Amino acid sequence: MSVRVLHADHVLPGDAPPIADGAVVVDARGAIVEVGAAAEVLPRHAGPTPERVRGVVFPGLVNAHTHVELSSMRGKIAGGHGFVPWVDRLVTTRSETLPDEDAEAIERAAADLAASATVAVGDVTNSLTAVAALARRGIGGAVFHEVLGMDRDVVLRRIDGLRAELEERVPSWPGADVSYAPAPHTLFTLHPDAARALLDSAERRGVRTSLHLAEHAAERRAVEHGEGPVPEWFATRFKQRPEWPKRPLFDLAADVGALRPHVVLVHLADARPDELARVAAGGAPVVLCPRSNLYIEGRLPPLLAVLAAGIEPALGTDSLASNASLDVLAEARALADRFPGVAKWELVKMATWNGARALGRDDLGRLARGARPGVFAVEGAVAGDPAAFLLANLRAPRRELARRALRSAEELASLAPPAGEPSARKEMS
Ligand SMILES: [Zn+2]
Repeated sequence: MSVRVLHADHVLPGDAPPIADGAVVVDARGAIVEVGAAAEVLPRHAGPTPERVRGVVFPGLVNAHTHVELSSMRGKIAGGHGFVPWVDRLVTTRSETLPDEDAEAIERAAADLAASATVAVGDVTNSLTAVAALARRGIGGAVFHEVLGMDRDVVLRRIDGLRAELEERVPSWPGADVSYAPAPHTLFTLHPDAARALLDSAERRGVRTSLHLAEHAAERRAVEHGEGPVPEWFATRFKQRPEWPKRPLFDLAADVGALRPHVVLVHLADARPDELARVAAGGAPVVLCPRSNLYIEGRLPPLLAVLAAGIEPALGTDSLASNASLDVLAEARALADRFPGVAKWELVKMATWNGARALGRDDLGRLARGARPGVFAVEGAVAGDPAAFLLANLRAPRRELARRALRSAEELASLAPPAGEPSARKEMS
């Protein structure tokens, strides 16, 4: 099979430190054949003329946590006052938004994601409205169909109805290069029995699911003590007074089965070192969303404690309701600015290989033999650290050198939700 040889000033493999004067060999399907120092790689592939790239070559990016369907909320939801005022405003503004506005904003967001070299997302959705737009741009990853509700019986019926809703609303969906799983929203907005059912179901199906966990202090107060702005919000906004668990947040997380390798834990901004140690021991992938945490709560995730616990975090943008862009490299940049001691290539790794692993996609996020991650470049004269160059030049065009190979029909078929789970019983709530 014919191959292309890319000879670059710098190669950032995604899963390893940068290679100065590097080369990447890629086949016609976009699969990586070899990566390494040009002096070693080029002599082994003497046939094709190397394509010279002046700048930094890197794999397609993975935005491991976002909500593309909220893209019309850009600039409309004020931040800085904490989670409850933010989400209350979000609920109101969502209810006033027309479907056409949503569709237009979703298209623009998908185009921006593609232009920013993003090849996969962990997309949380209530409506499934963004799935088709992402698929049209060749963006794959994982669809997390979010479930909320503190009324146990109502929400368990809702879970039963998800499969029927999926078939009704996105008939063309299984053609997209994504895994699908219903996902609990949080442990303060979903009854624990429902959270447990969703997490167990994803494990049985061998797919990733997702949970927002320890995003802010109000979450802990609600779960552990039944106090604070969250219970007040339930009472005033929804006239609901749920029975709160009144247990340590991470005991509850462990009890519902969230600290396991198939559950992508998002945020952990309010997690303590002993809790991070439990997350690490359980093997759950972690996604940090620094710019969203800064926007809503004015705080950063505890990156150094996360790393000290042995966690290799991925990065996500969260939605445009709490962020200025869906560019996951901007998350790496936000961390670089505030944690200058962390190696810049490690931050790029969080936006590539760690994200791919979090979503269960070993074929993405790294320039490594056999992977099919999409190959991109930012061109220019690089003085010093090429990862620092990438993070300092967020506005520079990201040129696609080799397209991410889509998975085969057989591979895609294996990702479709199996018939009958969740069951086809129709029950909307
Ligand atoms: Zn989120």
